[in-house]
Amino acid sequence: MLETHTEEVARLRGCLNDLVGIMALPALWAGGEPQQIVATLLDALFGILQLAFVFVRLNDPDAGPWIEMMRGTELLESMHPAREFGVALDASLGDALLKWLPSARVSIGTEEFCVASARLGAHGEIGIVVAGCERPGFPEQTEKLLLQVAANQAAMGLQQARVLSAQKQVARELDQRVAQRTAELAKANEELRKEIIERRLTEEKLRHEERELERSEAFLAEAQQLARIGSFSWRVVNDEITWSEQLYRIFAFEPGLRITLERVATRIHPDDLHIMREMVDRVRRGAGDLEFEHRLLMPDGSVKYLHWLAHGTGEKNGGSVYTGAVQDVTQRRHAEEALAQARSELAHVTRVTSLGVLTASIAHEVSQPLAGIVTNASTCARMLASDPPNVEGARETVRRTIRDGNRASEVITRLRDLFRGKDLIVESVDLTETTREVIALTWSELQRNRVILRPELDGTLPPVLADRVQLQQVILNLLRNASDAMVDVEDRPRELLIRTEPDGDHHVRLSVKDVGVGFVPQDVDKLFEAFHTTKKEGMGIGLSVSRSIIERHNGRLWATRNDGPGATFSFSIPCGPAGMGGAGDPGMIRTAAGIDAHHVVKNL
Ligand code: ADP
Repeated sequence: MLETHTEEVARLRGCLNDLVGIMALPALWAGGEPQQIVATLLDALFGILQLAFVFVRLNDPDAGPWIEMMRGTELLESMHPAREFGVALDASLGDALLKWLPSARVSIGTEEFCVASARLGAHGEIGIVVAGCERPGFPEQTEKLLLQVAANQAAMGLQQARVLSAQKQVARELDQRVAQRTAELAKANEELRKEIIERRLTEEKLRHEERELERSEAFLAEAQQLARIGSFSWRVVNDEITWSEQLYRIFAFEPGLRITLERVATRIHPDDLHIMREMVDRVRRGAGDLEFEHRLLMPDGSVKYLHWLAHGTGEKNGGSVYTGAVQDVTQRRHAEEALAQARSELAHVTRVTSLGVLTASIAHEVSQPLAGIVTNASTCARMLASDPPNVEGARETVRRTIRDGNRASEVITRLRDLFRGKDLIVESVDLTETTREVIALTWSELQRNRVILRPELDGTLPPVLADRVQLQQVILNLLRNASDAMVDVEDRPRELLIRTEPDGDHHVRLSVKDVGVGFVPQDVDKLFEAFHTTKKEGMGIGLSVSRSIIERHNGRLWATRNDGPGATFSFSIPCGPAGMGGAGDPGMIRTAAGIDAHHVVKNL
């Protein structure tokens, strides 16, 4: 009895030790993985309960496949892996495995074992542990208790491990996200850094360009000041006008003052306001480039002459922008006026002098033979009247009369030779180009006379064989006559159209159309007669000489009355070989060529 009691105490003590050992297991598991926990559990139970095998099946919380592990005798482990144990247990016990099975018997291979199981988790949600032993009394009560305590401990450890693993997963994901975000931030940071560098470079470049621009603007301003040239731009659609500093100076406006067309008009000379109005109208109608001149009447009463040149870009109907330059040409105009004045005085003096000299020499040269003719004729008459008539004497005096008559004729021939002047120079001439040259020569005079010139020039005309200077004389003469004819016109713009165009296949034509006084139909032939003039200062030889020049070029010069006011003077000359190469009337040629250029030039 005492011996039995001692044995019982030893057994209980052993059991208590085992229990303590099992209770200590969680300390080993802290922070461990489920597999590691299960492995320790298997080792502990296998050792403590002296089992043939112990098997654990864990349910995967993420509904994955089971995790099965076993520990057994060397022989069993080598013959039956954990999976086989699982299959054998399922086959023997079926659903009962999941239920509370304190004990049962199962066959593994050829052997039979007593088994005891315990659920991991209150309802076996974590898994199950099955212990097998060859001993028939297995499991005893203490063994069941130890198995259950171990299972409970393992369930808690596994639960913690799962929570920990979930936490670790969260931490890993967090780390991953942090790392990803950090990488993104680093990338963005790098891009930002690059952008900053690029922006700095761009700013640097911009500053450099601004400095360059400032410098070139300064140069431009200086150049504009030196050349008295201002520049402007005009957005027609909203009349937005931008002026350069120099233009403010020219108009004597406060720098920065808002420029409007009305404000500009306050400075324009009242007599030239129509020019500005005309230009504005043309721009609004969508005209292309502009060139015109007008005067300013400054607040101190002084007058300035301005020359405008503008280029229009953009669509018609006001959508365009005009940019251009304005030059103060006052000094040049004053010089030109002085020159023109001097020239006209000189021309007048020369004309008067040449006429005087011509008259004197004609009078001198011709009066002697004339006096001889008169004397001889009266002697002859006397001789024939005597009784008887002195026929021989009369014959002699008639001979002398004839001699004096021939002498007078010779004098006239000599005088004509004297005034014949230089030979013609024939070359290939572009009529349009020549017309442009004459326009350039007369431009400022026409502007001064408030003539609005409208050139319609054909740049594709075939060349003519002609004397360029003489053609210029004709064109100049027609332009000045047209300008003269409009000098008293006040009720309409003084428009002058000059046009070059082909005239049939073999001729080119130039016409000058004015809106001046015109002429009555019966005067049409008189206009071309030498010394016919209706002007106070006129000589009346311009048109006759012009006609001679054109006829010498085998061409034709004529005048027509316009449908409206004014007249059109036109000439047509052959182009190509039919021109000067052809035969002209030599007499006509000499007459036309014999008159010096300054005889044709008129005063405007
Ligand atoms: P001038 O100009 O010296 O008078 P012209 O021979 O050139 O000499 O002109 C003769 C005349 O013809 C002029 O005085 C003028 O009466 C008339 N005439 C010329 N051109 C025109 C014109 N465009 N319109 C009207 N009459 C003109």
